[in-house]
Amino acid sequence: MHLADARARAERLDTDDPIGHARSRFALPPGVVYLDGNSLGALPAHVPDVVSDVVRNQWGHGLVGSWNEHAWWDAPERVGALVAPLIGAASDEVVVADSTSVNLFKVLVAAARLRPQRRVLVVEPTNFPSDLYIVAAVAELLGLDVRQAEPRAVDGVLDDDVAAVCFSHVDFQSGRVHDMRTVTHAAHGAGALMVWDLCHSAGVLEIELDACGVDFAVGCGYKYLNGGPGAPAYVMASRRHLDVMRQPIPGWTGHARPFDMEPGFERAPGIASLRAGTPPIVSLLTMEAALGAYDGVEMRAVRAKSLSLTRLFLELADVVLHPLGFEVATPRADEERGSQVALRHPDAYGVVQALIARRVIGDFRAPNVVRLGFAPLYVRHVDVVTAVEQAAAVVEAGEHRDPAYDQRVTVT
Ligand SMILES: *Cc1c(COP(=O)(O)O)cnc(C)c1O
Repeated sequence: MHLADARARAERLDTDDPIGHARSRFALPPGVVYLDGNSLGALPAHVPDVVSDVVRNQWGHGLVGSWNEHAWWDAPERVGALVAPLIGAASDEVVVADSTSVNLFKVLVAAARLRPQRRVLVVEPTNFPSDLYIVAAVAELLGLDVRQAEPRAVDGVLDDDVAAVCFSHVDFQSGRVHDMRTVTHAAHGAGALMVWDLCHSAGVLEIELDACGVDFAVGCGYKYLNGGPGAPAYVMASRRHLDVMRQPIPGWTGHARPFDMEPGFERAPGIASLRAGTPPIVSLLTMEAALGAYDGVEMRAVRAKSLSLTRLFLELADVVLHPLGFEVATPRADEERGSQVALRHPDAYGVVQALIARRVIGDFRAPNVVRLGFAPLYVRHVDVVTAVEQAAAVVEAGEHRDPAYDQRVTVT
């Protein structure tokens, strides 16, 4: 297929796109194809005014009274309730707090404490580094063992010694989706609890935590949810556990009566017990506003658009990029693919940098992956064609071999 034909087809797909209007909710720099919403989501256009109001009015004028006046105190649960429908949880099962890494620590310890006779945690070897480090740290702290297994092969490591299984719903590197329902049922069949990391699936896939019986879940606010740099994360606990779980960081904001300033800890009822310290109000309210970008948008339509974008990319990559030395590392089957495409290339770092110079922004993941994320709210089919065109141009001109790219920047 010629790229000119592809562009005409992409334009038709964009014209017929039922969520095409959502792009105008974002303030994207002109001329940029942004394929890194899986690392830092784009800025929704209405957010700067909200942030300005939070800082100038709520903080500047309202001062400490804004904790009551602007309901800052309840914001972690309120924003959690906005995330809940995006991940198939009830509004009282999600709270926004801390980072994904910290929340994972909290729920893994809570899960292990709910299975006190069991001595094993399970994790997949390709999980995100933080997840691997935290599983290992929790195991060390509680004297547990770690077993590794691919989610598809979890049955092979399950027995009545497994306390909890912790997998990422979508692999951060390859973009493979794991079958949440089947894996969760397998864990439960062995009496273990199931913890999912939703960092690369929330906001782009239809997720049904409650319908799948998931025990705990965590995820970032700053990726596809567009909460802004360093946005707080969210943590979900099933209603079954809300009043019995005990997380290991008993801060005063998770106390039943925080302003009684009691010397002894008594956990707050419900999801609030997963709070620890004072919430980052400016970030949290930024994220609250940003979630408005999902207003009235069906996750079914988001997922359909995401698959359409990645399908088109893969089709063009086979014709145009494969002959230039790119290998697709992302599953081909729609049901196995998240919202990103990973391409292996021997000079992946140089390719990513040269693409950025051409205003196509993706990222590099060691050792050799060009990672391109397709955020369906603002990426168009024509952007897919541009990205393929530009990647081909980079390699054809040898721009990826520029010695300037011998030295890596801090954040790749
Ligand atoms: C991005 C990401 C994280 C990041 O955790 P933070 O604590 O927010 O830095 C964790 N896990 C996965 C799977 C991720 O993709």
